[in-house]
Formats: sequence, C-alpha cells, structure tokens
Amino acid sequence: MRVPFIAGNWKMNTTHVEAESLVADMLGRLEEITGVEKVLCPPFVSLAILKRLLQGSSVKLGAQNMYFQARGAYTGEISPLMLAELCEFVILGHSERRWYFGETDEVVNKKLKAALEYRLKPILCVGERLEENEAGRTEEVVHRQLQAALRDIEPSPGLVVAYDPVWAIGTGKAASGEQAAGTIKFIRSSLADFWNKDIAQDLRILYGGSVTGNNIAEFICQSEIDGALVGGASLKAEEFLSIVSQTKAIKGS
Ligand code: PEP
Repeated sequence: MRVPFIAGNWKMNTTHVEAESLVADMLGRLEEITGVEKVLCPPFVSLAILKRLLQGSSVKLGAQNMYFQARGAYTGEISPLMLAELCEFVILGHSERRWYFGETDEVVNKKLKAALEYRLKPILCVGERLEENEAGRTEEVVHRQLQAALRDIEPSPGLVVAYDPVWAIGTGKAASGEQAAGTIKFIRSSLADFWNKDIAQDLRILYGGSVTGNNIAEFICQSEIDGALVGGASLKAEEFLSIVSQTKAIKGS
C-alpha cells in the first residue's frame, strides 16, 4: 500500500517572513488531512524556521537541492550533512537544476548517493523536454535519466520519483492524466528492472507539471500515480489545501 504523497516545491519564492505566513495560513488545515504524506520544500534560508513551526506536526520538510560533498571549500553550496539536521527530504535532479545550472546525470547520481548516505529521502525528478516529447522519445529520456541517477545505488525504499515533463513545468500546460500514468507505469517497470519488482511496486512515483486544484483529480484517480510535485500552486494556501484534500478524498485511507 503506497501512501499518497504531495510535495510543494516553493522554488526561489518566499522571504522567510512570507514563508512563515504561508505556513501559518495552512498548517492547521493541512494537519487535519491524514492519510496523505505532506511535504513542504521552501528555500534553504527558511528551512530552520519551518522546522520550528512544523515541530510535532505531520507536515514534513524537504530541501530543493544540495551539493554532494559533506563539507569543504565549496562556496555557496549546502551539504547533506547540514540538511540532515533540518529536513527529511531533498529534491534532486529537478529540470530547473539540470537546464539552468548545468546539472548532469552524473552529478545527479553523486547527489543521490550523498543524500542516501546521510539518510535524506530523495525526490528524484526525471522528465523529457518538449522536442523530445514531440519526437516520441519520452521513455528513452526518462530511462536514461533513471539509469544514470541510480547507477551503483542499492535498492532504496525511501526514494520518491517525480515524473516532471519539462514542457509542463510552470507552463500551465499539464500532461493528461493518461499520458502521465503511461510514463509512470514505464518508470515503475524500469525501476523493477534496475532493482526488483517488489521494491518498484512499493516506491511512490509522482506527477509534476502545472498541477492545480482544478486538475489534481485527473492525476490522482490514476492507480499508477501516487501523488504530485506541485510548484506554483503550492505557493497559494487554498490551492495547496485543495490539492491535498482532493488527494485524500480520492486515494487516502
Ligand atoms: C515543479 O517545480 O516541479 C513543478 C511541477 O512546477 P509547476 O507545478 O509550477 O509546474
């Protein structure tokens, strides 16, 4: 039984005062929604304050990125050692990291290994660009990204995978529920080949890309889709609450 999972990726939004106020707007009501794993991924500078605000609550924290070294002369970077004190999850391989900051498959693999070493649970993002989608190369691309990211990594039950097609992120042009479920089914079968069928069956695989309160049901009603990685809509308390509560209504126990 896979517990449904909704993560809000706030990206480079919210000052720490705004972050505090966004959490205050939704925490009480988020807390009431049980049976769905709820994760907030604010900017690094707000992790410590959110950790304090979320103390004792069922809402969990994640970071949006990290470097693969634990410490050293890497100006401006944040390490898994630092994150391990603050949060449970870390988003890795997000397409904005890959395409704006030149993160390669090899770097994503190093980050994944480092995160697991420090007992952080990675939310590994994979997804194809528009031209790859139009050329019918979606499966080839996500397979390559997965294979590279998971190289030399033992089966990890804490891993969460997010299928985040690049063309759907922040564009308002979401995939259809069926399209997303088809690719997610393929991702699960790839995970079964890399690791084994049992673990692949237990891992949560999310859809991400322009998810809102208006379209979440289309994704969540697909049995293959275990939840969503939500960007823009996670910055609006009512919208995020609507996404989580619909997920509970459709999939929650
Ligand atoms: C994301 O950041 O992974 C994402 C899916 O963003 P958005 O929901 O804004 O498309």
